[in-house]
Amino acid sequence: MNKIQVLSDEVASQIAAGEVIERPSSVVKELIENSIDAEASQISIRISEAGKSLIEVVDDGKGIPFNELELAVTRHATSKLQSASDLFNINTLGFRGEALASIASVSHFSLISKHENETIGGKIENLDGKTITKSKIGCPSGSTITVRNLFFNVPARLKFLKSDITEKQRISTLVTKFALAYPNVRFKLTNEQQILLQTNGNGDRREILNHVFGFEIAKQMLEVRFEEPPYYINGFISPVGITRSNRKEITFFINGRWIQDVALSSALMKAYHTMIMVGRYPICVLFLDFPADFVDVNVHPTKAEVRFSKPDLVFSMVQRATRRALLAYSSFPEISQKFWHNPEQDKKLDETTWNPAKVLDDENGNFGFFNRAKTDSIDPEKEIVGSQSIYVPILRHVGQIGATYIVAEGPDGLYLIDQHAAHERILFEKMMAQIGGPIPSQQLLSPEVVQLAVHQTLIFQEKLEILRKIGFSITEFGPNTYQIRAIPAMLIGINPEEIIQVVVEDFEDDETPLGNAMEAIIAARICKRAAIKGGQVLSKEEQKALIENLEKCETPRTCPHGRPTMIHLSVDLLEKQFGRKGSI
Ligand code: ADP
Ligand code: MG
Repeated sequence: MNKIQVLSDEVASQIAAGEVIERPSSVVKELIENSIDAEASQISIRISEAGKSLIEVVDDGKGIPFNELELAVTRHATSKLQSASDLFNINTLGFRGEALASIASVSHFSLISKHENETIGGKIENLDGKTITKSKIGCPSGSTITVRNLFFNVPARLKFLKSDITEKQRISTLVTKFALAYPNVRFKLTNEQQILLQTNGNGDRREILNHVFGFEIAKQMLEVRFEEPPYYINGFISPVGITRSNRKEITFFINGRWIQDVALSSALMKAYHTMIMVGRYPICVLFLDFPADFVDVNVHPTKAEVRFSKPDLVFSMVQRATRRALLAYSSFPEISQKFWHNPEQDKKLDETTWNPAKVLDDENGNFGFFNRAKTDSIDPEKEIVGSQSIYVPILRHVGQIGATYIVAEGPDGLYLIDQHAAHERILFEKMMAQIGGPIPSQQLLSPEVVQLAVHQTLIFQEKLEILRKIGFSITEFGPNTYQIRAIPAMLIGINPEEIIQVVVEDFEDDETPLGNAMEAIIAARICKRAAIKGGQVLSKEEQKALIENLEKCETPRTCPHGRPTMIHLSVDLLEKQFGRKGSI
């Protein structure tokens, strides 16, 4: 054995770098985190050869002052942490001050940055992994970090990398997760000139889900919203009908940080217990927002794991949040007694929907399903597990509550139908079914002239053809001005200009999906606007027509945006609740 000696700085940095920078995606992760910490609203990532020959991240964040550029690449130099006590109240993604130093020690590295309060920017560069050159440079506020020839001086590490395809996938998965977590930031990922992902920063996570899972799955994802201040859980989980063979699509973010946590996954799995088959896993993207001092983020080299001060509380909240979403949205929600006896939930039900007098008091004073035994055709237990389906039994209209929900009786209990969501679904299917055929279109008595902003015109022109397919007759009427002569018959009564605005607004700066997906998106948006709203009193005939039309839909249980159109309370459950059957 040799004598004990202090390692050279170079070796020490490479050892440290080994912990943080394992592969190209670790570089991308650290750079994106820095851009987010710098409050960037646009982050653009470019890679070449799976990130081995080039990773470049450009942001429009606050930038780095000229005289701090060297510090940025110095180990243990950070603007995010002052003292050890801050470590327990971290509100930034980075805090150790070692990412840039680590990356720079294993690559050909350059950093261009201009601080928002300075007039000129600066550039520092290392060409051999050590020497740093520095110069002034004119550039917009923000930072550009370029990492070339990663691991050129640690060839052993290159050997441990997986195939280019796998490494590229890791990068694109990572960027996608960040895009989901930060929907207000515009992300762009380019691989050898090809754009892999581009988001528009409009804050709509469901739109980003479209990029990640495709429209079909994205639209079915169930929204989770859980608030027990100061604890918040938001995001999306798959309905029981959509599962995967592995846990790869189970994603958790805590305070904006993507983490791997086996215990959180099992809390999620518990929520799905008995609803999906053994060996299948749900898709989930959940964002936990907890007080910073509740989470110790300083326990893992790449900050991919955290420690909770009250783990049990977190797990039970994740389980409750997801279970609640599943039950609320499930085709045949099996409302468990736990759910029923959740005091908060009980209160909500008491205050709003669960008013027996209203629910049961139909025009004939008929107390129908309460006396009905669970003999009729359907076994709800089976249905829960069996189908996510499409099936809606024939429903008997009972009444409307809160001018928002329609109450109906089915063979196995009570159905509460959200009139807005249901109408959206009905209009949407009708519109989609009509596309491609002769469409009932209604001439307007006096054509409506609509003027758009310049950038809106560009968006609008692209959508014109689809609007014509749906049954609009629109002609150009001067610069940025259009004349609407006819609208789809089913939209009669709605201001055409409002519909045009709906079509244009949401697509500003959007990367537009092609073909059918685009038609469906536009149709869904128009139908959302056109559907009757909650709070609107409907006549008995209108309510009945709504139920009948919903029964005819192909996918009656969710609105085109994936929210449920109905909730089901089974006779079985009611019997238990009233102590007629089993014990509570
Ligand atoms: P940490 O993020 O842990 O502080 P880094 O090595 O990643 O450590 O970055 C060091 C410092 O450089 C940061 O604290 C920040 O002040 C600055 N910095 C790095 N990247 C950027 C960026 N994209 N925009 C603005 N400042 C940055
Ligand atoms: Mg950092």
